[in-house]
Amino acid sequence: MKKILLLTTLFANLLWGKLHVDAAYPYIAEITKSIARDKADVTTLSKGSWDPHFVVPKPSLIASLRQSDLLIVNGASLEIGWIPPLLKNSGNSRIQQGAEGYLDLSRYMKLRDIPSRVDRSMGDVHAEGNPHYALDPHNLVKLAQVISLKLSQLDSANKSFYKANFAAFKAKWEAKIRGYDRAMTSCRGITVVQYHELYNYLLHAYGIRSVANLEPLPGVAPTSRHTVEVIGTIKSKGVRYILQDVYHSDKTAKFIAGKSGAKVLTLPHDVGSMGGTSSLESFYDTLIGSFCR
Ligand SMILES: [Zn+2]
Repeated sequence: MKKILLLTTLFANLLWGKLHVDAAYPYIAEITKSIARDKADVTTLSKGSWDPHFVVPKPSLIASLRQSDLLIVNGASLEIGWIPPLLKNSGNSRIQQGAEGYLDLSRYMKLRDIPSRVDRSMGDVHAEGNPHYALDPHNLVKLAQVISLKLSQLDSANKSFYKANFAAFKAKWEAKIRGYDRAMTSCRGITVVQYHELYNYLLHAYGIRSVANLEPLPGVAPTSRHTVEVIGTIKSKGVRYILQDVYHSDKTAKFIAGKSGAKVLTLPHDVGSMGGTSSLESFYDTLIGSFCR
C-alpha cells in the first residue's frame, strides 16, 4: 500500500510539475509552504520539539532526499551532525552542497557571535557564528525572499506566482512585526540568563541583555559550581528571566529560580516545539507573548 501511495505521489508530481522540497527544520518548511503553496510538496526532516543541534539522521529520511529538487538548510553548521550523512546516502546530485538545489539560508543572514578563535577548551561552540537567527522575527521577510527567489530559479514557469505570494507574506509579516515591536518596548533594558545562547538575535533586536548561560560552555551540561556562579550573577545584575528551551531539562533553571527570585520562561524555538505553536504565526506569537507580561 505504501509503495502504491509513493508511486502515485511520484506520478502526480511528475504530471503536475510539483517541486519536491526538503526543509531541515519546521520553520523553514512553514515559510516555504507560504510561498510555494500548491506548487511544491514540502517534507520537514526534523521535529520542532527536538534539539536542533542533535537531530538523529534516520535512514527513513533518505527516501525523501532521493527525490528532492531542493534542500533548504538553516546552515552555519547547525545541521553539521545530521544532514551530511543523509545527503551523501541520498545519491541525489541535484541537492548536494554547492548544487542549484541546495539552499543554505545562513549565507543571507548577518551572523552574530562569530568567535575570533575556536579551540577545544571552548566546548561545542558554533564556529561560524550563532546559527539561531530565525528566533528573531525581523529576519523572516528576508528568509522568505531568499526562498521565493530560489523557487523561481528552479521553477521559472511559476515565477510570478512565487513573487505574488512573497509580496503577501511580506505585507502580513511587516504588520505583525510592528505589533511585536510595540509589545516588546516594555522589555527594553531588562537582563536575562539563558540555558544556551539560543535567543541572542531576539534579545539583541529588543535591547535585552543576556548576562550568563546555564551551560558552562556550549553543549556542556550545567555543573554545580557554575550554577552557584549564575545565581550570584542573577542577584548582582537584577536578572528578571531564565530562558529555558523545551529540549533540555529545566531542573537547573527551576533550582536557580528558587534561589534567586528570577522567573523561568520556557520558550519555543521552532514551529511545533510546544503546545500552541503549530503555525509560523502561533510560534512567534507565543515567543514574543512570553516576555514582559
Ligand atoms: Zn546553538
